[in-house]
Amino acid sequence: MKVSHRIETLTDGGSDGWDIYRKARALKSQGVDVTELTIGEHDRRTERDILDAMHASALGGHTGYATLPGTDALRDAVAARVQSRTGVPTTRDNVVIVPGGQAGLLAAHLAACDPGDTALFIDPYYATYPGTIRATGAIARTVPAHAGRGFQPDPADLAGPAQNARSLLINSPNNPTGVVYGRETLDGIARACRDNDLWLISDEVYDTQIWQGTHLSPRQLPDMAERTLVIGSLSKSHAMTGSRLGWIVGPETAISPLVNLVTHTTYGVPGFIQDAGVYALEQGQPLEDRISEPFRRRHADTLARLARQGVATVPSTASMYVMADIRPTGLSGETFAHLLLDTHRIAVMPGESFGQAAAGHIRIALTVPDDRLKTALDTLAAFHLSLIETAA
Ligand code: PMP
Repeated sequence: MKVSHRIETLTDGGSDGWDIYRKARALKSQGVDVTELTIGEHDRRTERDILDAMHASALGGHTGYATLPGTDALRDAVAARVQSRTGVPTTRDNVVIVPGGQAGLLAAHLAACDPGDTALFIDPYYATYPGTIRATGAIARTVPAHAGRGFQPDPADLAGPAQNARSLLINSPNNPTGVVYGRETLDGIARACRDNDLWLISDEVYDTQIWQGTHLSPRQLPDMAERTLVIGSLSKSHAMTGSRLGWIVGPETAISPLVNLVTHTTYGVPGFIQDAGVYALEQGQPLEDRISEPFRRRHADTLARLARQGVATVPSTASMYVMADIRPTGLSGETFAHLLLDTHRIAVMPGESFGQAAAGHIRIALTVPDDRLKTALDTLAAFHLSLIETAA
């Protein structure tokens, strides 16, 4: 029996970008000691008191169908957090709770685009973006951000593609590059959206992992609140990846039909998870700082350590990732990553998993304890040097 064309072509027939990750996991399951610097998963688990809140909620009976757009308490907590961080008036009517940022990305595109519409996104991009857009029946089209511009998208590059599109998806702080889009970049992006009547879908799941400067949400920019759908999640900020708790913040004109979509797709998020989310948000900044602190430290250390050993990195000020430029080896990111895994049991993601603009790079997730990370970085740097010497 044949499945739909839509689902069959979700990954465009090629690699879905996760090959190295799967290979590393397969080796691990055979008992091989692999240092996994692949996915954005913390090396610490969800904090005990959050789990206690979840447990208490479940024992208290919050195990039935939960309120569909999200509980009032959680929508209020998300709205308050967004308003205090951005200054944009936000109420629960601007918030719909979804099972993680990934579900939010799909729902936001379903809200913004009809089948056949063009949905733009910036390359380099988080690996699921093209498949998520294709799943909605929209046409996924990239706009490159170049290494030479520090991976800040050039609004001039948007002018042409924006004319025929319905939406633009951006991600700042960015996965995989760790780059934060500056005011000028975001002003240009906002202008392109207003001029061409585009929805802006702003993936802000890394908004607590900024190591220099502050986060600017494009929803704050003039006339943007009415056309911006912000994707948020507790996965990265609160080490709650497995809880699958996220949200979309946007104008009521979009949130109201999105509630209808949620009714017909996920049917909400478990109540005890939402209650744990309320508890987590109530802990405020101190908890967010505690969760992000190891990545702040490792990010700075990694940039310095690789620089000392002659490995060029993408200048970045955010995130739990560092991108290294391995073009001097003459290899693709993909070949480099496979060789590194085969010879040294260190798994990193090839830049090509995140689009063509990041080709010749690798993404290192800073997700193992400091000592182990340092050893892996030294091995990686020595391997990089040996490849350059061989190529010379
Ligand atoms: N957006 C980006 C940029 C991500 O890196 C991720 C997860 N790695 C997600 C969205 C999805 O996160 P979640 O579904 O866990 O909230």
